[in-house]
Amino acid sequence: MFKIGCHLSASKGYLAMAQTASSIGANTFQFFTRNPRGGSAKAIDVGDIEKYHAYAEANGITAILAHAPYTLNLCSADAAIREFALNTMADDLRRMEYTPHQMYNFHPGSHVKQGVDVGIDLIAEGLNKVLWEDMTTTVLLETMAGKGSEIGRSFEELRRIIDKTELKDKLGVCLDTCHVHDGGYDIVGDLDKVIDEFDTIIGIDRLKAIHINDSKNPIGAHKDRHEKIGQGYIGLDAFEKIINHPVLRDLPFFLETPNELDGYAGEIELLKSIRK
Ligand code: FE
Ligand code: FE
Ligand code: ZN
Repeated sequence: MFKIGCHLSASKGYLAMAQTASSIGANTFQFFTRNPRGGSAKAIDVGDIEKYHAYAEANGITAILAHAPYTLNLCSADAAIREFALNTMADDLRRMEYTPHQMYNFHPGSHVKQGVDVGIDLIAEGLNKVLWEDMTTTVLLETMAGKGSEIGRSFEELRRIIDKTELKDKLGVCLDTCHVHDGGYDIVGDLDKVIDEFDTIIGIDRLKAIHINDSKNPIGAHKDRHEKIGQGYIGLDAFEKIINHPVLRDLPFFLETPNELDGYAGEIELLKSIRK
């Protein structure tokens, strides 16, 4: 089954997100666990969650992806900011257990002049504090474009974080097509080579989700500016290969393109039309 969806607003709860997803032809969705800039999360509404589960079951929604606030920085030089990131993630991961066996994606962090090695150590140290043995959620490290001092600009950096994390079976990777392209991986010219490299360095079994975004900038730009599908430097032909690739085709795909709902509906329709 082609699992395709987009980023949705979480403001009206889980059932509303699932209904919105269905209304635009999606069978999966991504949402922020709280205001993307951080702040406190709405209390979990158990009634809403129950209705969500029934609706999801009836409408073929099997995978959902929660996204941590993008301002969280597990490897900040400031201990108070690291502490805030840890507390937020710990709270998010407890809340995720209301929808068990789903995925939680986060940006590894920015080392801001401390250097990559320190950054990687701090991220793994943080993960070692917030992951626990019996959790059912898979925590995804997102591949990053390498803007500023972002960690996760290469598969090697993600691998080093995984290596230093004790509960490795809780970790996976979310590959963002705009980010890896901006990071210098040639998914347009040689997708197979990029997938092979991912497999050699990280292991393809870790790949759990795809953020499907075009890019406003050429390969290697390290910018991270998403473009609508087919209107950027990645282009529709590359997306056709990506969504049909035997290694990728069964993963859930999430659009994070600059769109409102009707734009997402159009992109989902477009992607379905080129799905083989
Ligand atoms: Fe992200
Ligand atoms: Fe992304
Ligand atoms: Zn991005």
